[in-house]
Amino acid sequence: MIPVSFEYVAPTSVEEALSLLTEHGDEAKILAGGHSLLPLMKLRLAAPAVLVDLGTVDSLRYIREEDGQVSIGAMTTYAAVEHSETIRRVIPMLAQAVSLVGDMQVRNRGTLGGALAHADPAGDMPAVVSALGGSVLVQGPHGQREIDISDFFVDIFTSALEPDEILTEIRLRRQEGAAGSYEKFRRRQIDWAIVGAAVSLSIAGGKIGDARVALTNVGPTPVRATAVENALHGVPVDDLRLEDVSQLASENIDPQPELNASSEYKRHLARVLTRRALQSSLA
Ligand SMILES: Cc1cc2nc3c(=O)[nH]c(=O)nc-3n(C[C@H](O)[C@H](O)[C@H](O)COP(=O)(O)OP(=O)(O)OC[C@H]3O[C@@H](n4cnc5c(N)ncnc54)[C@H](O)[C@@H]3O)c2cc1C
Repeated sequence: MIPVSFEYVAPTSVEEALSLLTEHGDEAKILAGGHSLLPLMKLRLAAPAVLVDLGTVDSLRYIREEDGQVSIGAMTTYAAVEHSETIRRVIPMLAQAVSLVGDMQVRNRGTLGGALAHADPAGDMPAVVSALGGSVLVQGPHGQREIDISDFFVDIFTSALEPDEILTEIRLRRQEGAAGSYEKFRRRQIDWAIVGAAVSLSIAGGKIGDARVALTNVGPTPVRATAVENALHGVPVDDLRLEDVSQLASENIDPQPELNASSEYKRHLARVLTRRALQSSLA
């Protein structure tokens, strides 16, 4: 279908974009890569009167390593993340995970900021960033605030962002001494996840330290598998009973059934994918 007609504006700075959001209120919507918003507009499930395109705000495209963390501008594309030498060296799990999003066209246009702001429970990045741990920087008419990623996803397609705020930066911890992996189950290579499991572990002296595990598409937001995390903490790698620990991922979740998967099958996938992600992380 063809979207309803809309006005298109292309600001060149975050400040200009913010004042456009303030001026147009509920009528306006941010446009990033457009790979979620434009399909919704074509289906007429979204009909903003004004599109504020961040594609012309060059200051939102960067990847920087600073003060023990990596800062990624919200308009950085999946492809830029996937091919970044910094990301591959410091947070290799992120580069591996973005390579599994959609196809090359989606990765060339879609942005990390857009993927998080959209808060789609079937999207890969919400669980991946939740497993990595970090925060997002948000700018609004009254200044800037930092939101821990654990507090960012509120409900299905709902984040802690206010309508007049712009997500400007994703801050991730450097993963020194850490290992991680994202496993995604889909019917075809380019499909969305039926279920996904993201694991990030630190290992020192042969023991697992911090462990973060997050699941895709088993709830209205990314779901942290805290029982798995607790069972991993402090365990010598050689004593790890992968099958028993992964089993915990399927407990305490109540996934919505969908066309290709019953709730029970999704619970099975949560267990299997968590085990695979743990295995690849340890390898
Ligand atoms: C064919 C196809 C296959 C796909 N496959 C997958 C897949 O396998 N896995 C997956 O995770 N995703 C997939 N996607 C979705 C893709 O990852 C989207 O690019 C992503 O979900 C949204 O990013 P975007 O930059 O395109 O955002 P947009 O579509 O431009 O925006 C999405 C929403 O976020 C808001 N927004 C965007 N940026 C900001 C910001 N900086 N501040 C505040 N609000 C903002 C917009 O107003 C809009 O409401 C697919 C999409 C398509 C078309």
